[in-house]
Amino acid sequence: MTQYPDLQLYIGGAWKKAAEGQPVLNPADESVIGMVPIASRSDLDAALAAAADGFRTWSRTSPAKRAEVMLRAARLMRERVEEIAYAITLEHGKPIAQARLEVVRGCEFFEWDAAEGQRTYGRLIPSEPGIKYIVMHQPIGMVAAFSPWNFPLSQPARKIGGALATGCSIILKAAEETPAGAIHIARAFHDAGLPPGVLNLVFGVPSEISEYLIPKDQTRLIAFTGSTAVGKKLTEMAARHMKPVLMELGGHAPVIVCDDVEPVVTAITSAIRKARNSGQVCTSPTRFYVQKPLYDAFSKAFAEKARTVTVGNGLNSCTQMGPLANHRRIEALETLVADAKAKGARVLAGGERLGNRGYFFPLTVLADLPDDARAMREEPFGPLALINPVSSIDEAIEKANALPFGLAAYAFTHSARNADRLAEGIEAGNVSINTLEASVAETPFGGVKESGYGREGGMEGLSHYTIIKNVSHRMM
Ligand code: NAD
Repeated sequence: MTQYPDLQLYIGGAWKKAAEGQPVLNPADESVIGMVPIASRSDLDAALAAAADGFRTWSRTSPAKRAEVMLRAARLMRERVEEIAYAITLEHGKPIAQARLEVVRGCEFFEWDAAEGQRTYGRLIPSEPGIKYIVMHQPIGMVAAFSPWNFPLSQPARKIGGALATGCSIILKAAEETPAGAIHIARAFHDAGLPPGVLNLVFGVPSEISEYLIPKDQTRLIAFTGSTAVGKKLTEMAARHMKPVLMELGGHAPVIVCDDVEPVVTAITSAIRKARNSGQVCTSPTRFYVQKPLYDAFSKAFAEKARTVTVGNGLNSCTQMGPLANHRRIEALETLVADAKAKGARVLAGGERLGNRGYFFPLTVLADLPDDARAMREEPFGPLALINPVSSIDEAIEKANALPFGLAAYAFTHSARNADRLAEGIEAGNVSINTLEASVAETPFGGVKESGYGREGGMEGLSHYTIIKNVSHRMM
């Protein structure tokens, strides 16, 4: 069965209709595919009450039982992959094959977290006779989470997985522009037997919901993925109430291409990766710093590959890159390209919107950009590759580190010495050498500098969802 789901809130284990807010648009043709439900104050109060009940039940459920429910939900999502992928492509635009991979990736997050949640071990600290010091990890409480539109299923999965694996309850405000991914997660958990109130899903006016939930006593962690600007706002608000935050924010990933690699293969690999999700990925490879001997061959091969990428409706099986997810991205890319051209950049491929219905923009390659071009400093969050020559690895590291971002970074080299220098020297939470994959379920993912705070994934990811309690016990 492939149809776009009915959009409702999910509170206290039940689906709830709500006032209709903005239309959900198919970015491939701008048609309306649904109306997002808007949570009222009383819906949010109901979600808070339900999450309190949910926390009482879930935090006292054994880790093994929690894992069982999570694995059952992941299994259901795997079984429903076609239906979910169809809905994601409809609301987001990405090619259906990428939507399927996103569903699988989301399931991997749940499966990893389910297993790792059973290993939140404490420790017993050796001490003088007669007293024991016991360190315990307890679930932090209710999590207020906010997920963005670029990965409608796998972004919510990160937050729900962390919360549920550790015994927390969660109110998730998922993206209004792409609500179906989170709705399918809630459906799967409902069908898997998750107790009411453990997972609550709302939509609405983002600032109103965050301003209402963050100050509440019951909210013990704020988890957000989105832009640095909004992340800072939420972090300030959280600080006023002394709440911890988990912030996964913007990036502007550098890619350093050393002169010991094969330029054409590296360029083709890079162009394919750049097209993923139409470049709307916080880890998307963006600033290519290529050592001079390879520069011409690399730029030429990248541009040639970019021109062959088929852009179209994600439901067509031959589409390699779908539309951008919303009109804001078209405007942002047009502005960045115009500014770069005015400052002397060369356009090697793409550069202009395709058609005027649907948010299509080609894979665009710019070369020889001055450091003050806006695209070199602002996250394009779109299919924009920026290629510049460098004379040395030291220069490349300096340029890579010049921005306030530090999320993902990449390098290509056959030299172990280069690889070590790059891994040590680049300021980023994730450095990938000879691969453009920045994170998988079992590794910690997150940023330094203005790219955020905290980690999602791996054993480190779960630590944010627990508090550490030390118990000192003198034997009487
Ligand atoms: P945005 O920051 O306004 O929105 C990002 C997400 O945050 C959306 O889901 C939105 O609903 C939510 N949000 C916005 N204001 C909020 C608030 N006050 N309280 C709670 N949630 C709030 O950005 P946008 O226009 O949707 O996207 C533009 C930029 O966002 C991109 O250029 C990119 O830098 C960043 N972004 C990053 C990621 C990521 O994976 N890190 C994902 C999406 C967007």
